[in-house]
Amino acid sequence: MTSKRFVLTFPPDATGEPITYNLIKKFDIMVNIVRADVSPGKIGHLVMEMTAPAKVLNDGMAYIRQQKVECEPIEKKISYREDLCIHCGACSAVCFAGALTMDHNTAELSFDPGKCVICELCLKSCPLKLFSIDIG
Ligand code: SF4
Ligand code: SF4
Repeated sequence: MTSKRFVLTFPPDATGEPITYNLIKKFDIMVNIVRADVSPGKIGHLVMEMTAPAKVLNDGMAYIRQQKVECEPIEKKISYREDLCIHCGACSAVCFAGALTMDHNTAELSFDPGKCVICELCLKSCPLKLFSIDIG
């Protein structure tokens, strides 16, 4: 059995196919939704963990992509230059996953890598370009 996290990106005109239901019923994949941000007519993101034998996971990914939904395994890591941060909050405003948040008591930025879905929005949002991606 292999467990892996994936980010699914749904186009605004997604087919409405019950993807997670089919992954469970047709492929016998264990699915754990970590984060969902999906609204009709908009680009949506879903972070989920899938558990199954490696070949079945590959079949599941192929099925998702057949539905014109992007499906990328989370293999990258986001980091930022904490020492140079001015705590402006621009990155936390775009981080829909809740990995970057402003602490209301200290007015400082806080980063929880466990919630990061590698959407890369923070890279573009930081005026000081403090974010980078590590692949590995
Ligand atoms: S890549 Fe950046 S904006 Fe996206 S989830 Fe991770 S920390 Fe948040
Ligand atoms: S956008 Fe850059 S400078 Fe502003 S809080 Fe985020 S990391 Fe810090």
